[in-house]
Amino acid sequence: MGRAVEVLRPAEKILVFTGAGISTESGIPDFRGPDGLWTKVDPDDFHIDRFRASSELRVRGWRMHLDGELWGARSKVRPNPGHHAIKRLADAGRLAGVVTQNVDGLHHRTGLADSLVAELHGNVRDSHCLDCDRTWPTEEILAWVEAGNQDPKCPSCGGMLKTRTIMFGELLPEEELRKAMFFLAVADALLVVGSTVAVWPASDVVYRAAHRSLPIVIVNRGETEADLLAAAKIDAGIGEVLPDLVEAIIGPAPS
Ligand SMILES: [Zn+2]
Repeated sequence: MGRAVEVLRPAEKILVFTGAGISTESGIPDFRGPDGLWTKVDPDDFHIDRFRASSELRVRGWRMHLDGELWGARSKVRPNPGHHAIKRLADAGRLAGVVTQNVDGLHHRTGLADSLVAELHGNVRDSHCLDCDRTWPTEEILAWVEAGNQDPKCPSCGGMLKTRTIMFGELLPEEELRKAMFFLAVADALLVVGSTVAVWPASDVVYRAAHRSLPIVIVNRGETEADLLAAAKIDAGIGEVLPDLVEAIIGPAPS
């Protein structure tokens, strides 16, 4: 912890890069872990070509959101102390931004402004038409599904509807990439939280930070692909260390 504080305390603006590890502490299953989603479903079902080809997959997808799946749009999961610690960094004026691989929207639910969060893999809050890109809150589409339209189409153009989560075979959202590059440009340090930095192209943000010689601190249980790039590494649960780490970075809380 001491070394991590030493590295991050002098940084005016810190870029935080988060992965599934921060959301698992809210109860959301990860993808790659031993109990991860990929052990239960076929990753090929998460390819955009198969989604386009299969009405059954689309029906099943909306159904899973309706059923309140933990990662879905109606999930009742809440941000945990790790998410709140990052919000605290923002309140102290020390956050360059959050670049996240998570689609659960838990950073937003701490009250963090959308302009401070780049969701590289999209999110479940919003859905859009794959043809004309018209956008709705996912909740609105779920209401159509509940009313009996199991595979609803775009009312404007008849195109397929899909949540704004990125499937295999899709490009990362341009606007989110732009935000990520902006955060990177203004950051003096990088804090990696709950990510093994194994998924490209999201991991590119970490390598770009290293290329810019930004000091890197990693908080993650277990090894990551970026361990050799880190000035400090804390191998522990995020909720256990992040609140204390942030307090030490920004100084004592006002009493
Ligand atoms: Zn459309």
